[in-house]
Amino acid sequence: MSCLFCKIVAGEIPAVRVYEDERLVAFNDINPQAPMHVLVVPRVHVATLNDLTAEHDGLVGEMVRRGTALAKARGFDGSGFRTVFNCNAQAGQTVFHIHLHVLGGRALAWPPG
Ligand code: 5GP
Ligand code: ZN
Repeated sequence: MSCLFCKIVAGEIPAVRVYEDERLVAFNDINPQAPMHVLVVPRVHVATLNDLTAEHDGLVGEMVRRGTALAKARGFDGSGFRTVFNCNAQAGQTVFHIHLHVLGGRALAWPPG
């Protein structure tokens, strides 16, 4: 398996894990763009958002709700936080195993660059 996030999920590459359960792992981004920058990933390999099917609807819901819970645990529910899925090159996707970015702890500009 050549996928970086599959290797992190399997524990073959270290990461600072902040949550895990039977379906999801969440860990700190190695190059954080905000005081909180967590990646929420499914244990199952799905390369991009384009590969999602109806079978994944529950999984994606869990990713969003878990990211929200992690931001809330850091106190960012009221001040605000951002969740991002990048899909393919023009959006800046560099790791082809879907992941939800959860960013919080500073003001974030809109529109994104
Ligand atoms: P993308 O650009 O695909 O949306 O996001 C990939 C993210 O994975 C980037 O924010 C990048 O910093 C992060 N990343 C890349 N390699 C590693 C790694 O080995 N460990 C961790 N924890 N994060 C990584
Ligand atoms: Zn993978």
